[in-house]
Amino acid sequence: TALDEALNAVAQVIDFSDIGGMEALKERIRMSIIYPFKNKDLFAKFKKRSGGGLLFYGPPGCGKTLISRATAGECGAHFINISVHDVLSKWIGESEQRIHALFSEARRKSPTIIFIDEVDALGVKRSDAGHTASLVNTLLTEMDGSQSNNDDILVIGATNTPWRVDSAFRRPGRFDHVLFVPPPDIEARHAILEVILKEIPQEKIDLKKLAKLTDKFSGADLKAVVDRATETTIQEIMKTGKEIKLQQKHLTNSIKQSRPTTLEW
Ligand code: ATP
Repeated sequence: TALDEALNAVAQVIDFSDIGGMEALKERIRMSIIYPFKNKDLFAKFKKRSGGGLLFYGPPGCGKTLISRATAGECGAHFINISVHDVLSKWIGESEQRIHALFSEARRKSPTIIFIDEVDALGVKRSDAGHTASLVNTLLTEMDGSQSNNDDILVIGATNTPWRVDSAFRRPGRFDHVLFVPPPDIEARHAILEVILKEIPQEKIDLKKLAKLTDKFSGADLKAVVDRATETTIQEIMKTGKEIKLQQKHLTNSIKQSRPTTLEW
């Protein structure tokens, strides 16, 4: 099933250095997640727990998944990436069973960060409303901070539509921190482009100019811009037989053909 696949996926380990910009967000995550995770005894002395939950919201493609994966890398934790849709089943009891399986696997591998994309889908009323409520309750029970074996498990929920997330998740001990992952500003776009272009053979590129030209572009949009530009470069090499590198004009042409996606959000 999709859940088995997600549980067995081996993701490449990344850390904060793989993420362009987002400095304010990184600092908040350091304070609320990484330091408590790494200094349990010190935080326990002041009656602060590690573990618990975190909710990221913001427009699509702006790095919610990426920063969660990097947080796992920074903590030295396993990372499990699932979508609510991997868990949902039309069979009564099956979705609940999948959530139990997910958490027992997470405990077995702990420390673990469980990333649940599209958590808003859990709050959507379906024809069988009781079904949804029991699913939300199962997840809440598993997340519940009073479970002593949860210290090494952090749940990160992500959503593009925070207003649709079931309010039961917003109480203390559940998604304790609700953090906005914004569209990248000009400095962040500069930093993201730097990260994405890092290993690509290139001539002198004016990142500042590119960052200026890409107002409202998400990180994913920027990745698409670079992908298209490198494709053009490869096509040119194959056509002319000349070993050229990626050039500024490939990137600016690619930007001209693109539309930012955070506008609609
Ligand atoms: P969705 O809401 O659609 O799930 P998301 O917010 O989880 O989106 P990601 O999947 O984290 O977005 O980002 C999509 C891609 O955009 C990443 O795989 C990466 O290539 C690129 N990207 C986004 N933000 C950054 C960043 N800050 N630095 C480097 N690359 C980024």
